[in-house]
Amino acid sequence: MLNRNIENFIGCDASYAEADVVLFGAPFDGTTSFRPGTRFAPAAMRRESYGLELYSPYQGRELTDGNIFDSGDIELPFGSPERALGMIEERAGEILADGKLPFLIGGEHLVTLGAVRAAAAKYPGLHILHFDAHADLRDEYLGERLSHACVLRRCHELTGDGKIYQFGIRSGDKSEFEWGKEHVFTRLFDFEGLEDVLESLRGRPVYLTVDLDVLDPSVFPGTGTPEPGGVTFDALRRAVTAACQTLNVVAADVNELSPHYDASGASTAAACKIAREMLIALACK
Ligand code: MN
Ligand code: MN
Repeated sequence: MLNRNIENFIGCDASYAEADVVLFGAPFDGTTSFRPGTRFAPAAMRRESYGLELYSPYQGRELTDGNIFDSGDIELPFGSPERALGMIEERAGEILADGKLPFLIGGEHLVTLGAVRAAAAKYPGLHILHFDAHADLRDEYLGERLSHACVLRRCHELTGDGKIYQFGIRSGDKSEFEWGKEHVFTRLFDFEGLEDVLESLRGRPVYLTVDLDVLDPSVFPGTGTPEPGGVTFDALRRAVTAACQTLNVVAADVNELSPHYDASGASTAAACKIAREMLIALACK
């Protein structure tokens, strides 16, 4: 018997009804400031995911040990960030309302705001754990308040002070860092202190957002705003795994892969492997 052609993320083959984790793509890059192309990431990751094993030797489990459903991409209007965010919020909200964990693949980092809106509506007291090269705390960028350079600032408007924890940050304008000191926790350059933060967040509802440009461009050149001085693949893998295993993660995303800047395919492979480790840790609790 022949099977229908499908292009799920590898191993995300559960039915929606039985799924604990529901993946979806938001192929949006309408506010990208430097090099566009993240809209192609969800499709590239699904395709390249078949180069991965289901099994994680790091965790001793495989993707199919958990119940994960891939609900495909949302068809988004590129000219309207607000409408795109509304559609992302709706998808994430539907998954949350069904008692499942939304796992969003961007897209540029602005897409996170849609899913955070949905998570904050369901979980008062939501905390955000944010891995990124960039602070993303600008109040506006080129006159726009809905920009990937402003996404954590918009999230702060939903969570309030002391709820956002950033790691790996090595770029931002002076005012972002000054504002950040008053309102968020920022660990520059690496993941030092993550263990203590995970301990302090234990049991609380947490949104985990991974801007993959936190990785050094030598391992992750395929992104819109490469920022030298980043963390190693293994440092990020350990950090996301610890966060997903330890915390009450209620929703998560990976974003900012831009496949057309990934001539070797190595960045897409790194993105897929980070996603696999997160999915296994989230779905196999
Ligand atoms: Mn970002
Ligand atoms: Mn970034």
